Amino acid sequence: MRVEHLVMHACCTPCTIKSYERLASGRAITREGEPVSASRITLLYYNPNIAPAEEYERRRDAWVAYCARQGIEAVELEYEPQLWEEATAADLQVPGRCRQCYALRLGRAAAWAAQHGADALTTTLTISPYQMSELIAEEGQKAVLAMSPSSCVGRDDLGAPPSQIASSITAPAAPLRYLDIDFSSDYRASQNAARAAGIYVQNYCGCLPSKREAEEQRAQRRAARKKTSVGDDALGMPPVELGSTSVGRVDPSAERPENEPVASFSAEQSASPAPPVPTTESAPDAH
Ligand code: SF4
Repeated sequence: MRVEHLVMHACCTPCTIKSYERLASGRAITREGEPVSASRITLLYYNPNIAPAEEYERRRDAWVAYCARQGIEAVELEYEPQLWEEATAADLQVPGRCRQCYALRLGRAAAWAAQHGADALTTTLTISPYQMSELIAEEGQKAVLAMSPSSCVGRDDLGAPPSQIASSITAPAAPLRYLDIDFSSDYRASQNAARAAGIYVQNYCGCLPSKREAEEQRAQRRAARKKTSVGDDALGMPPVELGSTSVGRVDPSAERPENEPVASFSAEQSASPAPPVPTTESAPDAH
């Protein structure tokens, strides 16, 4: 599939690195198996979910600096945390709040793409195995449909009524399409590339509920490790060896990085009544 102008919504730098590389090098494939080739790619940063503001600025600054170093066409939209709060107010539980979060971000990205004559939209969110890819795809499709001039229902990014949004859309050579691309095979490499480059990697998805949930889950993991530890790490004692099996310190190579999401949706959601927190943008051990 050849597209002229592809807008890629970017959630953070760790998720951007390999997603963009794959797309720019022509190695991206839609979930339907269609290769994607884009003449122009614009990265779009719109993440009103991130809180507090200092965290938003830290992630945003890292992303802007990375794009500038790489010579990537990048646009940051206004930070609108109040819109995220309004969108999720009715349901702050996972997955309800996450669906609204995706809808808000992809809706705004679709509006920008349509207004700038782009013919395709995608997102880095799907690089994270801890995000809910089906919901992302559904909300991405809805977002581009809402921007079609014939069915513009006004996912309004500038406070304008739907009729004005429709009339402000630059007519593209082809209708705006949402491209559902699974970047998740690059997740670990992208996270590692960010760390190797000294780029900030967050330890929670983005919203304040996800921050609290990630902290609780890390505390639970620490408590579980402490409970199973026979050694006394606090005093520098070596782990106790039971036969050939060490039951003391956790093998560092097996330990989740601090920003790793606590649990995998795909692997654990069905087994747990309470879905894990999606960690976006770079999975906690994120995104
Ligand atoms: S957990 Fe992540 S995807 Fe879900 S609402 Fe919070 S920021 Fe959005």
